[in-house]
Amino acid sequence: MNKKVYADHSATTYVKKSVIEEMLPYLDVKYGNSSSNYSLGKESSIALEKARKILAKSINAKEEEIYFTSGGTESDNLAIKGIARANKYKGNHIITTKIEHLAVLESVKALEKEGFVITYLDVDKNGRIDIKDLKNKITDKTILISIMYANNEIGTIQDIEKIGELAKNRGIAFHTDAVQAMPFLKIDVEKQNIDSLSISSHKLYGPKGIGMLYVRKNINFIRIQDGGHQEKNKRAGTENVPAIVGFAKAVELLEENKDEVSKNVLSLREYFLDRILKETDNVVLNGDRENRLPGNINIQIKGILASDMLLKLDLKDIYVSAGSACNSKL
Ligand code: PLP
Repeated sequence: MNKKVYADHSATTYVKKSVIEEMLPYLDVKYGNSSSNYSLGKESSIALEKARKILAKSINAKEEEIYFTSGGTESDNLAIKGIARANKYKGNHIITTKIEHLAVLESVKALEKEGFVITYLDVDKNGRIDIKDLKNKITDKTILISIMYANNEIGTIQDIEKIGELAKNRGIAFHTDAVQAMPFLKIDVEKQNIDSLSISSHKLYGPKGIGMLYVRKNINFIRIQDGGHQEKNKRAGTENVPAIVGFAKAVELLEENKDEVSKNVLSLREYFLDRILKETDNVVLNGDRENRLPGNINIQIKGILASDMLLKLDLKDIYVSAGSACNSKL
């Protein structure tokens, strides 16, 4: 039997053993609802707040700026719709890019039907936006800029700090989808002038179905789903405490050696790329080699259909993808 090679960590990761161990007590003995006022509930709410503290620290935010959600998709929806609707009185223009995840693209599309006007920035051949182009597209009606930190397919990293600075100087809220960036890159919402940021747990060895949204304290946003008053009345629904505890543990482990892991993964990627580009005909790298997530390789092999290649690799127990997993069921 072949040894399985899983090379699709942008789609999802396994859950680390120590993360599972951390979660287990909150599935059986510590099962209280974190909104309940007796001690079983308090135990859960203490765990919830401890997790919030860990997650806030990991991006240099304040605890009260962290909202738990069901993952990256919900965080993007809540940020974009929540900020846009709360600030509509100031303007109806939103700027994003053509290469965002569907969670962003479909959110702005939904807002178009409510009267918002969306500008989709082009990217160059390496997947980078042009800051001058962004500057030129800003109008006095622009209330939100949503640009992903790093792309999920070609791994291109945008100049988030420059975008943040521009948005801040123009008094525009800046949201970034950092779902793919978080596992590899340092994030500092203060230094990078980020007003809102989405993270998902299952990309960094945590459980699926849990994520967080950071929103800077002075940014107005409203909830998008009706129900209870959890998460400071911004996200209705009983918090998934076991998953949140696991998510925080995964982030804690990640932050212990993020730089080192990123460096190691980068050197493996460069070794692989050097060899495949040198030793194989008709291979082209898609995207930017420099401004790229360490763990990302996206190549074209001319003359071979991606679906055929995937099948051949699957038969050898090598798991790779030919695009975002979210689009594969279309
Ligand atoms: N944003 C990006 C850039 C992603 O890669 C993904 C997941 O693939 C998401 C958002 C959605 O996250 P989730 O699967 O947690 O809903």
